[in-house]
Amino acid sequence: MKQLEITINNETGLHARPAKTLVNLVKQFKSDILIWHGEKKANAKSLISVLTLGASKGSQLKIEVNGDDEETALAQIESAILSGLGEGEPPETQAKPSAPPAPKVAEIPIEDKKPAKANVLQGVSAAPGIAIGPVFQFQRQEISINEVSEGVVISWERLQDALARARQQLENLNHQMTEKGMKAEAAIFDAHLGLLEDPELTETVQARMQKGQDALKAWEETIEDSAMVVAALNDPILSARADDLRDVGRRVLKIMLGIDDKNDSLPDKPVVIVARELSPSDTVSFNKDFVLGFCIVNGGPTSHTAILARALGLPAIVSVDESILKLKNDSYIIISGSDGTVTFNPSHDELHAAEQERNNWIEKRRVALEQANAPAITADGREVEVVGNAGSLSDAQKALKMGATGIGLLRTEFLFLERTTAPTEEEQYNVYRSIAETMGKLPVIVRTLDVGGDKPLPYIEMQREENPFLGERGIRLCLNRPDLFRQQLRAILRAGVHGNLLIMFPMVGDIEEYRRARLMLDELQIELNIPRVVAGIMIEVPSAALMADVLAREVDFFSIGTNDLTQYTLAMDRANPTLAAKQDGLHPAVLRLIAKTIEGAHKHGKWAGICGELGSDPYAVPILLGLGIDELSMNVPSVPLVKAQIRGLKVSELQSLAQQALECSTAREVRELVKKQLSM
Ligand code: PEP
Ligand code: MG
Repeated sequence: MKQLEITINNETGLHARPAKTLVNLVKQFKSDILIWHGEKKANAKSLISVLTLGASKGSQLKIEVNGDDEETALAQIESAILSGLGEGEPPETQAKPSAPPAPKVAEIPIEDKKPAKANVLQGVSAAPGIAIGPVFQFQRQEISINEVSEGVVISWERLQDALARARQQLENLNHQMTEKGMKAEAAIFDAHLGLLEDPELTETVQARMQKGQDALKAWEETIEDSAMVVAALNDPILSARADDLRDVGRRVLKIMLGIDDKNDSLPDKPVVIVARELSPSDTVSFNKDFVLGFCIVNGGPTSHTAILARALGLPAIVSVDESILKLKNDSYIIISGSDGTVTFNPSHDELHAAEQERNNWIEKRRVALEQANAPAITADGREVEVVGNAGSLSDAQKALKMGATGIGLLRTEFLFLERTTAPTEEEQYNVYRSIAETMGKLPVIVRTLDVGGDKPLPYIEMQREENPFLGERGIRLCLNRPDLFRQQLRAILRAGVHGNLLIMFPMVGDIEEYRRARLMLDELQIELNIPRVVAGIMIEVPSAALMADVLAREVDFFSIGTNDLTQYTLAMDRANPTLAAKQDGLHPAVLRLIAKTIEGAHKHGKWAGICGELGSDPYAVPILLGLGIDELSMNVPSVPLVKAQIRGLKVSELQSLAQQALECSTAREVRELVKKQLSM
């Protein structure tokens, strides 16, 4: 056995990310590895166990390693802890300023939330379309084991059997979601698998059972105790883990108790699901034939219900006032994914109008899909490139089927995240090449690595940041890690020979950053004997939008990342659900920056596109066309719809609409203007 004493120097101790990095590293070794923190002992291969050590900055840990690979294991653990477990070594001398008291989140002004009519609630649209139907108030079935387990004794073997079945279910779910290209959902079930296989859980349950507790009680209490400890660590990432833990716990309990998913609490006829929140397991338990749409109190447009609804083509509204939860089951409701409204107790006329609108929407979608492959040419003859956003090979394949004329944004992060070592050049080359070959002659804009800040990579050293969104993100991170950056650029350049790859740098704030990146690219082109590659930048930072005319002298093209541009212009965290209703890219301030960007590009004969969510917003498309946008890149399911919308518009009529939008005072005014002028 080998052992080592070491001090934790991470600013916030062994919290979520460093703990996960440590556990992932430790799992690669065969040896048994224990961590002692005073009297507390943890199995280093269990995330839950490591988190419950409660190790803070300055904590002395003892690591014990016992097994064939103990020497290598101990050396690597020591070096990983000393280098900050993916967070970088915090400067010892620099005292951390004490955080100012958290400001109270401002209430959304009444007029913004105030419904236009007494029976209308304003939420945030998360997926387009209209749903009309009876309300189904979904309440997660609470399992009270005292009530349902009367006389049931669950043995250790039966628990093992339940765990194996839960594992099978989760593997199937992960597989199904991957097959459907729903990566975010697949990742959730993959994380659930990790929790289910956490050795700490079964060991604690076993210990409780040896003391005479029944498996049901032992399992339920172990899950709840661990979830509470994890939730109490006051880390937003971990509090989601606590919910996941409870979700996994319920799955196993239901199997042990023989409770079928298809029970009374699930809809058995077409309904609109209304809920405070939905867990991934809740969502997949619905029979999709019976779901007309979702209306959710919690969560923003990026919540997993929103992602799922978009993938299924169902309308969804999130951030709805919680009074919606008081509606009676079976009372009628209308949800409109186009403007984010929820109409309850609709009048006869309102129902009639909504039905009309829904039928139009269904017909519109049918025609759009039928004509997906026809070009997007406006009624007065201007062709607009409509391309897809992709994060994998399967997205690119879908984009082709949906009539996209290229990939306007290939997010390469999927190759880099959720792993303990960087992908090799060869690994990257193979993926980029397969995407390039799939798209053939059509252009694929490969965005170089856009991580850092809120998305750290465990295998690169980074300083902890107070404001990660304002920190070492995107191109800033890559320029500071030239080896990592060059490796990616080489892989893209080599793969480009097999198709039509363009390169795009994210988060560029000024010309110097672009020049440094372009220089590295030029050097690699010479080294690899490859002709000059077209390289553009994302416009996501207000400084870049304001300097667009200067940047356009050197940069080949612009693609406006409205998700980040809106966040930075309005100073609103894009992931904050409380601000979701105000986070609107149609805010005139954002529109003015977009106008400036397009103008700057055109002044120097360059093109400008959009690759943020705004590009597929039916209210934004006419304005963007009016401002002269050349290309729209979007989530793949929206491609046929936007192409169809473009065919019905006349640019000559949109220019004055766009100018009027720039003069509006709020995003709401802009939406009303478009609605009125285009009779939407
Ligand atoms: C954006 O910011 O608009 C964008 C497309 O990039 P991402 O959403 O990947 O940050
Ligand atoms: Mg962005």
